[in-house]
Amino acid sequence: MYDVCIIGGGVVGCAIARELARYKLRTVLCEKSVDVSNGATKANSAIVHGGYTATHGTVKGELSIRGNRMFDRLNEELNFGLNRCGSLVLAFSNEERSSLETLLQNGKLNGVKGLRIVEREELEKMEPEVGPEAVAALHCPETAVTSPYEMCIALAENAVTNGLDLRLESEVVGIEKTDGAFTVQIAPQNTSENTPQKLSARYVVNAAGVYSDRIAAMVGDTSFRILPRQGQYLILRRGDGKLINSVIFQTPTKRGKGILVTPTYWGNLMIGPNSEEIPEREDVSTNSEILAYIVEKARRSVPGFKLSHVIRSFSGIRATSDSKEFIIEEAPIGGFIHAAGIDSPGLTSSPAIAVKVLKLLETSGLTLEEKADFNPKRPGINSPHPLQPIKEVQDLIDLPEGNPERIVCRCEQVREKTILDALQRGIPIKSLDAVKRRTRAGMGSCQGTFCGPRVRTLIAHTTDISEEEVLPRSGGSGVLPERVSGKDLRSLEEQEKDLKREQQ
Ligand SMILES: Cc1cc2nc3c(=O)[nH]c(=O)nc-3n(C[C@H](O)[C@H](O)[C@H](O)COP(=O)(O)OP(=O)(O)OC[C@H]3O[C@@H](n4cnc5c(N)ncnc54)[C@H](O)[C@@H]3O)c2cc1C
Repeated sequence: MYDVCIIGGGVVGCAIARELARYKLRTVLCEKSVDVSNGATKANSAIVHGGYTATHGTVKGELSIRGNRMFDRLNEELNFGLNRCGSLVLAFSNEERSSLETLLQNGKLNGVKGLRIVEREELEKMEPEVGPEAVAALHCPETAVTSPYEMCIALAENAVTNGLDLRLESEVVGIEKTDGAFTVQIAPQNTSENTPQKLSARYVVNAAGVYSDRIAAMVGDTSFRILPRQGQYLILRRGDGKLINSVIFQTPTKRGKGILVTPTYWGNLMIGPNSEEIPEREDVSTNSEILAYIVEKARRSVPGFKLSHVIRSFSGIRATSDSKEFIIEEAPIGGFIHAAGIDSPGLTSSPAIAVKVLKLLETSGLTLEEKADFNPKRPGINSPHPLQPIKEVQDLIDLPEGNPERIVCRCEQVREKTILDALQRGIPIKSLDAVKRRTRAGMGSCQGTFCGPRVRTLIAHTTDISEEEVLPRSGGSGVLPERVSGKDLRSLEEQEKDLKREQQ
């Protein structure tokens, strides 16, 4: 019998698992996918929001600022990557300038520090590449960029080190409560067997992202619905992030925070996302019309990015609830806690959501007794290093397998020792994507065309699965394929021109 069963291995489920790992408890986490971080957590803007957007007095407002403040310590302990680069919300008109005032007041009420409005002259000094139409901006020094999937993996690894039973490829398909405990039915995804397995737990936490309403319905709670909202992105080459110094937003509208231009933690430039309600909960396709719209809007903020440097497109799905609020509460059945409807700023809020869920579990009767041997530390796997010209590292690229210094991934210059380290951290690795998210092998311009076969061999030689069993990338999300051809880029450039013509 487990004390707690968490459903969902995104950043929220993994943050809760890591928080629970501090205490003398038996905890299991069931994730239907082959790895943690395969839902919204892998595909978002990667921003640790400053906390001025979410309305004061809401759960989102409270938890986003609390969560933001927890990141420095978390990153010191878990080494997933954090850069407090700050953010700017641009106003393109006097009307938008008054929206900046509203954001400023809301941010002050939420407790955000250092918020202020900067005028055009100062803005140009801060961001020389900013578009000519911007008249002023709201500056927030507390905004940061992080690496969301690395954060989720780090939380999961550390929870496993501290005793979490992590069950991947384990989809929860039914839940019953009898005699004060839950029986959770799991359909294993990695066998041909159709019979669901069962486990028992005294408490259940629902952190199932876009499926959290379906999980709630399994215990008869139909009090909320998830209305999935898709957001699409373009990502440009590593190094292009230097074009700007901070995250650049536009004035938010009712439909969201608008199109942003941001440097990523690893120095790429990223533009997006749109916000579109979609019928399919896992539709991570992209389409060229929306991407062209994103390009057009992003150029208003930062005109000078190079479309020819686009590596690929991708999209993520927000688990927006019908109330638009996070749902972090105990279900009527008791002992069953929802961490549901966690759309943006859910990444930012995730450490604070975990603390709130633990309080709810405690109020519901769970005893939290600290473990003396809890180890909060998790060493990083890779960190941003300057890339060398290929000809200077060609001899390292040509080294045979077995040499730890061999460069396996040419674009991101990832060494064999880094990949072997990632493969031996207590979470089973079965896919090229799992290695990519841990080490960056496959994240560069060629998107794994060169290193994919090498990584596949390393996985097969290090784990108990064969090369044939190593899964390919988890579903190409995007109209621009993993390796973007000149033709793809020309089509996007044409779309951008068409849009401009239409507007003239
Ligand atoms: C386009 C976009 C931009 C965003 N930008 C930001 C941002 O910049 N900053 C920010 O703070 N937040 C942002 N967010 C929000 C943030 O990404 C999410 O709030 C966060 O990732 C939610 O984490 P989660 O763990 O709740 O969900 P997920 O990451 O989706 O995890 C849920 C997990 O549950 C699993 N699951 C589902 N059903 C079952 C089942 N039956 N059995 C077992 N497992 C199951 C899924 O496989 C999945 O892994 C953005 C989101 C999107 C989509």
